[in-house]
Amino acid sequence: MSLLFPALTEDPGERVALRFGERSLTYAGLAAAAGAVGRRVAGRERVAVWATPELETAVAVVGVLLAGVAAVPLNPRSGEKELGHILADSAPSLVLAAPGAELPPALAGLERVDVDVRAAAPLPEERAGQEDPALVVYTSGTTGPPKGAVIPRRAVATTLDALADAWQWTGDDVLVQGLPLFHVHGLVLGILGPLRRGGSVRHLGRFGTEGVARELSGGATMLFGVPTMYHRIAEALPGDPALAKALAGARLLVSGSAALPVHDHERIAAATGRRVIERYGMTETLMNTSVRADGEARAGTVGVPLPGVELRLVEEDGTALTAYDGETVGEIQVRGPNLFTEYLNRPDATAAAFTADGYFRTGDMAVRDPDGYVRIVGRKATDLIKSGGYKIGAGEIENALLEHPGVREAAVTGEPDADLGERIVAWIVPADPQSPPGAEELAEHVARRLAPHKRPRAVRLLDALPRNDMGKIMKRALPHG
Ligand code: ATP
Ligand code: MG
Repeated sequence: MSLLFPALTEDPGERVALRFGERSLTYAGLAAAAGAVGRRVAGRERVAVWATPELETAVAVVGVLLAGVAAVPLNPRSGEKELGHILADSAPSLVLAAPGAELPPALAGLERVDVDVRAAAPLPEERAGQEDPALVVYTSGTTGPPKGAVIPRRAVATTLDALADAWQWTGDDVLVQGLPLFHVHGLVLGILGPLRRGGSVRHLGRFGTEGVARELSGGATMLFGVPTMYHRIAEALPGDPALAKALAGARLLVSGSAALPVHDHERIAAATGRRVIERYGMTETLMNTSVRADGEARAGTVGVPLPGVELRLVEEDGTALTAYDGETVGEIQVRGPNLFTEYLNRPDATAAAFTADGYFRTGDMAVRDPDGYVRIVGRKATDLIKSGGYKIGAGEIENALLEHPGVREAAVTGEPDADLGERIVAWIVPADPQSPPGAEELAEHVARRLAPHKRPRAVRLLDALPRNDMGKIMKRALPHG
């Protein structure tokens, strides 16, 4: 029996496992096609998957995993330089791709194997143990060049089972998602998750609110998305009653990969009566916390540690917080069976990432409410501003700015300041470029909502914020950021 996908190896049957647009595969069809992939790659150490948002990508990854081999999903939108780095670093022995996919020159030297979703072969023997790698996933590169996180099979299985517990996720659930398949969100949670449960997933290929409305009103029970997707939903809701009705009928709406702005959370709740659940995770740790399906979804929080995850907040001097007051900020450190093994070829970075007692330093800063709910303040590297003797999180200022009707997008950074140490700078995409809100008005808006020392000292206007493929704001790519 497969360690990861019992539903595929025990009694596959004719239930639908995967649907991408018009194309779908039953569990029996997936087992057969994955068997053909598995036989092709058996005995290799690592193989790359050209992770277009298509049926072939899901079949390829499942086939590779069932053969006991590790998959390295590649972002088809990576530039030549990034692809070159990832290929040199991970050294895959071949690349699996959809038959029509055009591969860039960086992949020219690599053996190519086309994935045939109609092929059929018995599954190869799964020669892999719990500690063997399932995936090498490159981090989003939000804070530096992407690092290859080696994710063992045990981590995939435990994180998915912890989510099943938190979300009451069963084989009866039908997931709709339109996420990229080269990061853990879309691939591990969004494809491997439903397959481990014996349920089914409908992938939109490209995210769109029409697809979400269609699938949720046509039997899908859950939606997974990143905040930019929920932002588009929030924007569309006032003019789209069908979308509001579809969301109102969903069992679970889940957001992750970055903070969901409070403004979007509240607009969705007001229009649909449903609160989006936030979960917090990383490539290196898979999932750490979530609001539980039967818990209270509070805007701006990522819920509580998942079963099996030990989570602590550690202050700058190294002491772990013992009481939660909703105010004291510490770095999130986690330990548990959900953690990765190492950064590929980076023993230095791996060693630096762990404490002596085996906790992973996430680099994310948070506070905890008295009842244990975690509120992420931001990343230590880019989101924590030390100004006038205060430690200020960029996130709450961004949330406040987004509530101003003249602001479409907002990012807050700190800049060196002779007087304050750092001064708060707001990068704004105005709702109307012809009449952007003034700096003084925005400063007052923030001071009134939060506190005077949290007001931005400078406002810079942009046409768009720099974002990566997950829609995450790349603060290091801001003009002077
Ligand atoms: P890199 O490590 O290459 O700089 P990255 O950290 O963005 O990139 P990922 O592993 O994809 O790469 O993302 C994990 C990070 O995403 C977390 O450390 C955290 O900062 C952020 N994150 C994930 N979920 C949430 C959430 N619900 N709320 C706030 N931040 C989140
Ligand atoms: Mg990271």
